[in-house]
Amino acid sequence: MAVKVTPSMAKNQMARAIYAIAVPPPAKDAVEAIWKHFKSRCAYCDKRLTRNSRKAHLDHLVSISEGGNNDRHNLVLSCSICNGDEKLDRPWREFLEEKTENLSTELRTSRFGRIQEWANQAADTANQRERVSQFQELVTQAHSSFDQIVQRARALSL
Ligand SMILES: [Zn+2]
Repeated sequence: MAVKVTPSMAKNQMARAIYAIAVPPPAKDAVEAIWKHFKSRCAYCDKRLTRNSRKAHLDHLVSISEGGNNDRHNLVLSCSICNGDEKLDRPWREFLEEKTENLSTELRTSRFGRIQEWANQAADTANQRERVSQFQELVTQAHSSFDQIVQRARALSL
């Protein structure tokens, strides 16, 4: 049986694909700085990570679908479990609350602080926000063309 694809799933994939193709991945020095700030540990669960391991990921604090970008200060080091299986596109604070609920206040504070300190260094300029909103405008245009094409394809009654 074919996998059902809804228009909203397809639109989500389109937005991700446009972003992945049009926006370069973080530069080597940015990746280096992220590993250094997080001392080679998962920002969420503190698991030790090794470079070139498939278990080490870069997680977007603000997800692409929420208007996040590849700026180094929007990226944190994350293990594959926290990034790929648990957090997904949820807000990082909500995820970290849950992840650290059994830890001492001191440990929780330090875990939140390590991420916040990093995120605070983002250059949150009006210019950056403008570019993100222009990107979202382009995605909206792609979605609108997509809807028209789907309608015309349906009319063919294949
Ligand atoms: Zn983790």
